[in-house]
Amino acid sequence: GVPLTVRNLHVSIDDKEILKGVDLEVKPGEIHAIMGPNGAGKTTLGFALMGHPRYEVTEGTVMLGDQNVLEMEVSDRAKAGLFLAFQYPFEVSGVTVANFLHQAVNAVRGEEISVWDFQEKLAEKMELLEMDESFAGRYLNEGFSGGEKKRNEMLQMLLLEPKIAILDETDSGLDIDALKVVAKAVNSLRGPNFGAIVITHYHRILDHIKPDVVHVLMDGRIVKTGGPELALEIEKKGYDWIKAELGLAD
Ligand code: ADP
Ligand code: MG
Ligand code: MG
Repeated sequence: GVPLTVRNLHVSIDDKEILKGVDLEVKPGEIHAIMGPNGAGKTTLGFALMGHPRYEVTEGTVMLGDQNVLEMEVSDRAKAGLFLAFQYPFEVSGVTVANFLHQAVNAVRGEEISVWDFQEKLAEKMELLEMDESFAGRYLNEGFSGGEKKRNEMLQMLLLEPKIAILDETDSGLDIDALKVVAKAVNSLRGPNFGAIVITHYHRILDHIKPDVVHVLMDGRIVKTGGPELALEIEKKGYDWIKAELGLAD
């Protein structure tokens, strides 16, 4: 595995500075949770790491092992082993889930995986996620529920076998079944060659994915770092006590 090292990361959207110097190191085998109130910059961090063009990095470095992530195109970041889970909002008529995932695997590997090998792998991962076989034949995102989109995304993650996965649990949240699918997928990849950043407003998902390290992001900076107990404390007490500790007015 390789570490993801973020140093002094500053990110702006439309010239407004959102991240004001984030430091983070995810070592192989570790799962880090990033928690924080709404508007703290959590989603901005995820998109900036993946290279979303709207999020402008103005300062700092991001390294995946000895590779400079900030110099890479989005597709090269994926090839290098970064994965960002976000819900594809678009529907693609005429492209099935299986087609789409096969293309995604080929693109990231940079070589064709045979239809036979792909089907075998797909079936194995779908079984793990307790997905019905018929799902693979459906058109991408057409009529998908939120939970089905999330399952599709987790299936993609399992097939791509990223070195570092970044999961942003949107504020709208997921139902408990979808949450369990996310947890099952992440926990199945857990090991010395895999690291993850789980971004979440709530504690819920951390009941199913036990983080090694918990960070609190507030006002564009990581203001507190601890173990799993920090997530429990936030569940009980919210974020106001941390703001008070920092002397940040609400
Ligand atoms: P979080 O995920 O922690 O709720 P975000 O990263 O989504 O926070 O947002 C951080 C800040 O950036 C907020 O003040 C938000 O209003 C602003 N912001 C987010 N996305 C955009 C955007 N596309 N354009 C302008 N401002 C944005
Ligand atoms: Mg938000
Ligand atoms: Mg967000």
